[in-house]
Amino acid sequence: MRSWLAHYDIQSAASLDDALHVLSREPGKWTPFAGGTDIMVLLEAGKLTKRNFLSIWGIPGLRAITHSPGFVTIGALATYTDILADPVIQSEFPLLCAAARDTGALAIQNRGTIGGNIANASPAADIPPALLVYDATLEVASIRGRRRIDYTRFHTAYKLMDLAADELIISISLPRGRSGWKQVYRKVGTRRAQAISKICFAAAVEVQDRTIRDVRIALGSVAPTVVRATAAEAALRGRLLDADTIHTACAALTRDISPIDDVRSTAAYRRLVAGNLLEGFLS
Ligand SMILES: Cc1cc2nc3c(=O)[nH]c(=O)nc-3n(C[C@H](O)[C@H](O)[C@H](O)COP(=O)(O)OP(=O)(O)OC[C@H]3O[C@@H](n4cnc5c(N)ncnc54)[C@H](O)[C@@H]3O)c2cc1C
Repeated sequence: MRSWLAHYDIQSAASLDDALHVLSREPGKWTPFAGGTDIMVLLEAGKLTKRNFLSIWGIPGLRAITHSPGFVTIGALATYTDILADPVIQSEFPLLCAAARDTGALAIQNRGTIGGNIANASPAADIPPALLVYDATLEVASIRGRRRIDYTRFHTAYKLMDLAADELIISISLPRGRSGWKQVYRKVGTRRAQAISKICFAAAVEVQDRTIRDVRIALGSVAPTVVRATAAEAALRGRLLDADTIHTACAALTRDISPIDDVRSTAAYRRLVAGNLLEGFLS
């Protein structure tokens, strides 16, 4: 059954300050509406439980991507197309570009935002594993002020996150300096475009003289939230990169993930493919 449009209200915020005041006046009443690519699917399916939407799409300044010597900072309203067009992200954060390129198809890439992808909090979203690998920090704002959160701590349970009803994500910062690392991103889905991931894998490793100096591994669609594979990382850090280490890391990975059977895949397939992706990356 489709939705009846007269049941819904949408208003546009003219500025960040304006948006934060509307959200704080009646916390929980107004739902931020960025690109609308997740919200419109629910509307179309007749499953949209919220009634009042606050469009943040036109807020000046929230779409910019800026570079400082230490960080790249991506405005929450930056689209996948904006991310793909940024020369610094292209050269220093290839996993983010790979994830953006594999998200939906061109129409979604032109309209969907990075902030919306994070706040939609799907464990199958494609950008978050890349953000975990790059040690991203989120900046959120409300009329009470601004705060920063390590992205590793943002998603607390299935569809739950450290974001109050009166807060907006305003930017995502990525520390620079990983360009020497070997990096791999893999999305396993039913087809090349417009597919929700069965598994999403992102990893980066710094190897010197065959020894693993540091490593980040993150996966989507294998747990109630996107996850950093900290047990597998611990089995690798400081070790010689050989067959024994790879075997131990793949065994440790089973402690990092808790996949389920669902409409897209099975827990057994996800476990097998997660291990294969890690083994392939390290090999
Ligand atoms: C055909 C199709 C294909 C898709 N393919 C993929 C895919 O391959 N991979 C993938 O990961 N996703 C995919 N998506 C999902 C979607 O496009 C992304 O999650 C997108 O990035 C959402 O951004 P948006 O701006 O459209 O979010 P919206 O729909 O506007 O909002 C999504 C949620 O985030 C909240 N929100 C938005 N911005 C903020 C903010 N700044 N602060 C706080 N809360 C906020 C909203 O209130 C809402 O709850 C697809 C969707 C469609 C329709």
